[in-house]
Amino acid sequence: MSEFILQANHLGKTYKDGELVTEVLADINLSLSACERMAIVGASGSGKSTLLHLLAGLDKPTTGEVRLAGKDFSNLSETKRGLLRNQHLGFVYQFHYLLAELTALENVMLPLRVARKDAFESERQATDLLKQVGLGHRLHHKPSELSGGERQRVAIARALITRPGCILADEPTGNLDSKSADQVFELMLSLNEQFDTALLVVTHDLTLAAQIGQTITLVDGRIQSEPS
Ligand code: ADP
Ligand code: MG
Repeated sequence: MSEFILQANHLGKTYKDGELVTEVLADINLSLSACERMAIVGASGSGKSTLLHLLAGLDKPTTGEVRLAGKDFSNLSETKRGLLRNQHLGFVYQFHYLLAELTALENVMLPLRVARKDAFESERQATDLLKQVGLGHRLHHKPSELSGGERQRVAIARALITRPGCILADEPTGNLDSKSADQVFELMLSLNEQFDTALLVVTHDLTLAAQIGQTITLVDGRIQSEPS
């Protein structure tokens, strides 16, 4: 068993469109152990989202491998990758992607219901988690009835409800005003400790990255500096 929840070994991604070859990522090596956190920063177009997609197993690398919970994630079948992803990873995006017709509670319960967990137990866990993110008074509100920061907190609760070993977040506060962004970010950091969840955050905000600590900078698809 690997001690790392998530690992990239010599990861590379090249797009080919006829004669046109675009190397988007090259020789990316990183590893996250349980509870560890890391920020990935870099200019627009440096390959951050592509890297996160590869780490999430949503796209296949051209070279190298991603290991999730000790398994060669990138070379599994689509079905097995899906199962492993649901078991170990949670996602938070710039836009919340909550379902508009569902309440906060129903949105957070959804991953458990999809995994065919008991309805009563799912509701209890989702209620508890929404209370932990400070939304105990908003259980039955729909996304349109919540503020931007509240929606993102629901999205965080949804990501955590399956108790994943690692959360991947792509600009999780990118769409919020600075005060809500700070609050949401603080929440993510405190939950990372409470839940023993590793946290990998892509952000262009260097102040947020500094709060995470360990930072990797991507320049033209390559890691510039060693993790500090
Ligand atoms: P970031 O998230 O850091 O802004 P991306 O990972 O979205 O960067 O993109 C990195 C680079 O990869 C960009 O130059 C983009 O044009 C290129 N790219 C992304 N997807 C494709 C694709 N399907 N085909 C060719 N190039 C792509
Ligand atoms: Mg991006």
